[in-house]
Amino acid sequence: MGKRRVQFCICRFPVLKWTENFARQERGGGILLKSKVAVVECREYRQELVDEAVRKVVGLLGGWERFVGKEERILLKPNLLAKCPPEKACTTHPQVFAAAGRALRKEGYPHLFFGDSPGNHLIGVEQTAQGCGILPEARSLEIPTADFSEGEKVDFPEGHAADHFILCKGAREADAIINLCKMKTHQLERITGAMKNTFGCVYGFNKGASYARFPNADLFGQMIGDLNLLVKPRLHIMDGIVAMEGNGPQSGEPVKMGLILASADPVALDSVFCALVSLDPKLVPTNVYGQEYGVGTCEAAQIEVVTDGETLTVEEAAVRWGNPDFKVERSADFKGRINMLRFFQPLLDRKPYIKKDRCVGCGICIQACPLEEKAIFFRGGKPAYHYRKCIKCYCCQEMCPKQAIDVKQTRLAKLADRNWRL
Ligand code: SF4
Ligand code: SF4
Repeated sequence: MGKRRVQFCICRFPVLKWTENFARQERGGGILLKSKVAVVECREYRQELVDEAVRKVVGLLGGWERFVGKEERILLKPNLLAKCPPEKACTTHPQVFAAAGRALRKEGYPHLFFGDSPGNHLIGVEQTAQGCGILPEARSLEIPTADFSEGEKVDFPEGHAADHFILCKGAREADAIINLCKMKTHQLERITGAMKNTFGCVYGFNKGASYARFPNADLFGQMIGDLNLLVKPRLHIMDGIVAMEGNGPQSGEPVKMGLILASADPVALDSVFCALVSLDPKLVPTNVYGQEYGVGTCEAAQIEVVTDGETLTVEEAAVRWGNPDFKVERSADFKGRINMLRFFQPLLDRKPYIKKDRCVGCGICIQACPLEEKAIFFRGGKPAYHYRKCIKCYCCQEMCPKQAIDVKQTRLAKLADRNWRL
């Protein structure tokens, strides 16, 4: 039997760390220990349907009491990227947030809070939550807002890429975090699901600074891997009823997937999301480093999908619920695969560009650029790029409220993708 490493997280609670040991022991003929991902169909955001789906999906994993205690301060952490109405599928739907809150209240959990660090720190949690429809649900369930207006430095010497984080006080003070993430695409990491949603525990402007400190998809994925080791949400529930495809995480298109998913293993959960949209999970750096650092597994053989009365493999789940036409970046990852192309990496990175007909000249993209010497600036009333300075973090694209920034492959990348796809 493989060893479990017991660690103490910032929530002052011992948690079990998934380690490669499990897999090694299994290959040696021992007991197979797989990460469980629960999947339940839910066709629309009708309160009774979502309540039932959340009840089932958590029940399939053993119930709330497996993850949280009645005396604990529990932070519900939805995705509150921006003040977007729920129908844009940019944030966790208020019905999913409310279903989790209602279920916990019904089971007698008194100490519930909610919060997230929005993309635009100046707007604040409550205003953003109001815009997303979550604040009225929180009010009606008497779930107060956690303190996300202050940050605290937390040293993390065990980190692989990050030795410290500036975390929001509300996340720091929580005994347990329940991650209520959204099924969406992301220009830097390809997807934003369970792993990436923990980034909202990082305080305000430090989120932007993190993009500058970890200026490419790989380094950013390493930082997210470390962050998950530190904050360790106990349970991840993914709103995949209507997902976002294409130009995510804010400017993509809503697409029906009709699912609620949950797991204690965020890497496994994100990997099932990848399988459902025909994306190789190993092209997602948060999966790769999440697995490498022991947060979870992205190996299909080490994941089991549980649903109403059945256990499926990841492949069977993809056949049953998958959407192979889901628009997500599937181009090859040239880094580390074709060494000779490393030299050309700057020419292979996908470039953000402005759709001038949509741009209203608000300047949010320029504020969002994390570089001291901005790589985006106004020229003739509309933003323009200084591509040599640009680190391709796509914060500008992420924060544009008018879907006026998209990202395109360079000609060389298209050529390489066509000819050397592995
Ligand atoms: S954030 Fe979008 S709409 Fe605003 S200036 Fe930038 S590109 Fe234009
Ligand atoms: S211009 Fe956009 S993509 Fe480039 S560094 Fe600034 S925010 Fe990142």
